[in-house]
Amino acid sequence: MRVGLPRALIYHYYYPLWKNLFEQFDVQVVISDITSKELIQKGIKVTVPEICLPIKAFNGHVINLLSKNVDYIFIPRFVGIESKKWFCPKFIGLPELVGYSIDGVKDKMLTIDIHGNREDTCLLENYRPLCNVFNITEKELKKALKKASAYWQEFKQYCMKGFTIEESMQILNGEQMVSNTHPEITLGLLGYVYNIYDPFVSMDIIKRLRQMDVKVITFEMMHEKDIANVFSKKSKSIYWTFSNKIYGAAKVLMNDPEVDGFIHVTAFGCGPDSIIGKLMELDSDKFRKPFMTLRVDEHTGESHLQTRIEAFVDMIKRKKFAEQRRELA
Ligand code: SF4
Repeated sequence: MRVGLPRALIYHYYYPLWKNLFEQFDVQVVISDITSKELIQKGIKVTVPEICLPIKAFNGHVINLLSKNVDYIFIPRFVGIESKKWFCPKFIGLPELVGYSIDGVKDKMLTIDIHGNREDTCLLENYRPLCNVFNITEKELKKALKKASAYWQEFKQYCMKGFTIEESMQILNGEQMVSNTHPEITLGLLGYVYNIYDPFVSMDIIKRLRQMDVKVITFEMMHEKDIANVFSKKSKSIYWTFSNKIYGAAKVLMNDPEVDGFIHVTAFGCGPDSIIGKLMELDSDKFRKPFMTLRVDEHTGESHLQTRIEAFVDMIKRKKFAEQRRELA
């Protein structure tokens, strides 16, 4: 059996888990191609115009998988993975959104509902519908979920050591990674994994920053507990799971003297980001840390993005070196 995974949205966070889980049942995992202009254009054509870029991209990836001779396309409905927090409504309605946008996809959709308060999603009731599809028992599924969860936890450990999601996956595959040990400045890179890690959407922003000798910290490189603890009784956390992680990460990093500034990567048309973007900007004012918003859509040009990043990084480096000179004088 061949099951397709769209290389979009939450794929960038849970791919190691799903690959490990499916392959335990001899399922061949097929991933859609890397995002390109053509792929996004196909998604745009079938999606309502007012929706955010990541959803248009997701539809493009589903269309791409339809041409890959797969038996199913895995489209989970993410409702919640922690207590009293929810996913953005576009995630909750994703199977319907895709089903009504793309002709002929409904028969191929493999959908499960993710509820509960486990970050690894590995509750038996979440994945139970797979028993019929893969022809397996609940006992076999339970055992496989335990193994997949352990594998995903290992992946997360590498992320928390400062490796990017892609690097962590490569390390799990036995590859060696070398990091720049002498960065000139450190930036908090704030944004959803599907914006930061999609090389077309963010135009490889992490690679670009590293080439400029910048150390990058993203929310998944931080400890969950630190992010959760930053919301004291006085400061309210955010209602949406991943928006809360990003806002919490920003709050932790604002207090970190090692962090020289912030870049928030956000997609045009994102509702939750219009709230947390403003909150993070206000906090950065309070902490006197430079903050830049990069709002991306399907028309964003590479040279425009590169110029803005270079100017921001240059400004922070000059400021930092001037401060260091003053301290030495
Ligand atoms: S959080 Fe924002 S970018 Fe992500 S799916 Fe929801 S609206 Fe789109």
